[in-house]
Amino acid sequence: MPTAQREAAAAAAERRATEILTRYGLAAPPVELEEICRREGLAVCARPFDYVAGIFVNDGVFPVIVVNSRDRRTRQRFTLAHELGHYFLRHRRKSFAEPGGKSPLEREANRFAASLLMPAAWVRRSWKDYASNSENRLPLLAELFEVSQAAMEVRVKELGLNGPPRPRR
Ligand SMILES: [Zn+2]
Repeated sequence: MPTAQREAAAAAAERRATEILTRYGLAAPPVELEEICRREGLAVCARPFDYVAGIFVNDGVFPVIVVNSRDRRTRQRFTLAHELGHYFLRHRRKSFAEPGGKSPLEREANRFAASLLMPAAWVRRSWKDYASNSENRLPLLAELFEVSQAAMEVRVKELGLNGPPRPRR
């Protein structure tokens, strides 16, 4: 996918996430994903999977999201937000299993998930609020937004904030 097209898709995912937060009056972290699901009539449950982080089955009548109960809560939240991306961005497939790879749809769902869990304006504000505690900013923000530190680190970079270098894996 050409860069311009990819950027447009990312911007659209950001806008859609902001719309959803506004629609449900969510104005501070951590974002209550369960509330969004409940109001949308989406069933959510957790099951212990061996190989998948989550599943989304959308038959258009009774959409169901299942997350892996063995994953940490922050990962479960990201998975749930990612599935909400497939849902709200109207990705027309009957089912998804995560991680779903690097296709444009998966990227869009990831961008939506990051935007929903870590809205740009909120992250920028908190980043400033914690300026005096710059060494612990990432863990503090991760805790506040109930996301993994790795996810927050990616987001902070994505927003052009001044994150420390990424640790080697
Ligand atoms: Zn996916």
